[in-house]
Amino acid sequence: MPPQWPWLQPAAAAAAARRATPFVLRGRRRSSSSACASAPSGHAREQEDEQSLVVVGGGAAGVYASIRAKTLAPHLNVVVVEKGKFLSKVKISGGGRCNVTNGHHLEPSGLARNYPRGHKELRGSFFRSHGPQDTMHWFSDHGVELKTEDDGRVFPVTDNSASVVDCLLNEARRLGVSLQAGKSVSGASVDDNGKFVVEVEKRTIDFVDYISANYVLVATGSSQQGYSFAAHYGHSIIPPVPSLFTFKIADKRLADLSGVTFTRVKAKLMLDGIQKSAPELTQTGPMLVTHWGLSGPVVLRLSAWGARELYQDKYQAKLMVDFIPDIHIEDVKRILFQHKDKNAKSKVNNSFPKEFGLVKRFWGFLLEQESLDGDMHWATVPKNHLNAIALRLKQWMFEVVGKGQFKDEFVTAGGVPLSEISLSTMESKKQPNLFFAGEVLNVDGVTGGFNFQNAWTGGYIAGTSIGTLASTSILKEEQACLQLRAS
Ligand SMILES: Cc1cc2nc3c(=O)[nH]c(=O)nc-3n(C[C@H](O)[C@H](O)[C@H](O)COP(=O)(O)OP(=O)(O)OC[C@H]3O[C@@H](n4cnc5c(N)ncnc54)[C@H](O)[C@@H]3O)c2cc1C
Repeated sequence: MPPQWPWLQPAAAAAAARRATPFVLRGRRRSSSSACASAPSGHAREQEDEQSLVVVGGGAAGVYASIRAKTLAPHLNVVVVEKGKFLSKVKISGGGRCNVTNGHHLEPSGLARNYPRGHKELRGSFFRSHGPQDTMHWFSDHGVELKTEDDGRVFPVTDNSASVVDCLLNEARRLGVSLQAGKSVSGASVDDNGKFVVEVEKRTIDFVDYISANYVLVATGSSQQGYSFAAHYGHSIIPPVPSLFTFKIADKRLADLSGVTFTRVKAKLMLDGIQKSAPELTQTGPMLVTHWGLSGPVVLRLSAWGARELYQDKYQAKLMVDFIPDIHIEDVKRILFQHKDKNAKSKVNNSFPKEFGLVKRFWGFLLEQESLDGDMHWATVPKNHLNAIALRLKQWMFEVVGKGQFKDEFVTAGGVPLSEISLSTMESKKQPNLFFAGEVLNVDGVTGGFNFQNAWTGGYIAGTSIGTLASTSILKEEQACLQLRAS
């Protein structure tokens, strides 16, 4: 069970509500012309009328949402509270280059298939509201030139994540979003008027402040505090488990192949308790051997699709690898036998079938596994060894014994279930005016820019909903004032 926050008890909440300040942004405040002239005018009334949004978490989802909300509703006071540094994951993402999105999956249902958690729910309106193309337009409209690499990953042309970070923070500041770093949201309650009273702590000093807000957006990533926040408002939390990791393999001999890359293998993850293998547990693509196991896009994708079951099975599984997926096993055998006939006088380690596209190091490794001396001639290789080599090439079984630490990208599977929020607004179905976006939700993607795309889309939709609500509410207020004056 996640540790509870110091949630305000009713009496404390009432006291906090009295102390809470409707926050006032330096330099930008709603003009008094929009306040009702016949109302008890003045500073206090104006502050009461102001609409405000607190965004908890200054990552990709939170900052993008704050920009969208403030763009739609310039009068809305927007504060983003970040306990560490703003956009710290964007900064380190993609090996410091930031893989912003994916340019090969532009159509929503194809795009959604890249999300082990979320693939069913995200097929519909979610990405249609703001998909990869919209993200790319947004960044290029805001001065970040992007490029799409052959595998679909989109990066800034500078190959430097700072371009993305600076763009987002400059735009937020230009619009008048209040960015508060080094402060942590440690609790919240709802006062008698239905407004949130958000408790903000400054870590370095013993300091607690209360902010009154009409809207709260939780964009806390995989932080435990975000889950507690959601749980406090009645949300269930799907237990978080890691996704996107490499596999530790029992076979010590594999270390001899460390650094070898296979451009195209087909790998099938076999897990206890899964009788009929799900199609996603078979993946095709590049694979890399490390000194303690297997890595590369194929392995990361399998780790994502099998994340929950692998966690349950304590990261014990079997992995069957087909090193030449485009050639049928009978053809592999035929090619080996033909090679034997044509190269009878050649040494086995100097000559091997080109059709397999193997590197010499791997071929040598295969011979070793079959206890074949590399200096022997092809003519003397027994038939059963050739059959065994064909079998290894097509169905090599590895034993996964643990989870590796993959430093380039990892995410958390689990969080707030998508069924508990409205995907068209990102609003909670449990608590009005409470919104969620990004990794705090039970959504995670495979590598390739999909995780940021979830953050941009969720942030954009939440920002749009909040900005629209805030504008509508001001409009209604002004209409009421006009009616009051007219009567
Ligand atoms: C090393 C690494 C590299 C990655 N590279 C890529 C990549 O290239 N492409 C890609 O698509 N994805 C990548 N990802 C995944 C991607 O970074 C995340 O999916 C994405 O950052 C999620 O965005 P978010 O805004 O939901 O959460 P986050 O970026 O995690 O932001 C949440 C923020 O909330 C703050 N916070 C939490 N609790 C509180 C609180 N109580 N009060 C105040 N602040 C709080 C945290 O400090 C954090 O800054 C990478 C991840 C890692 C770890």
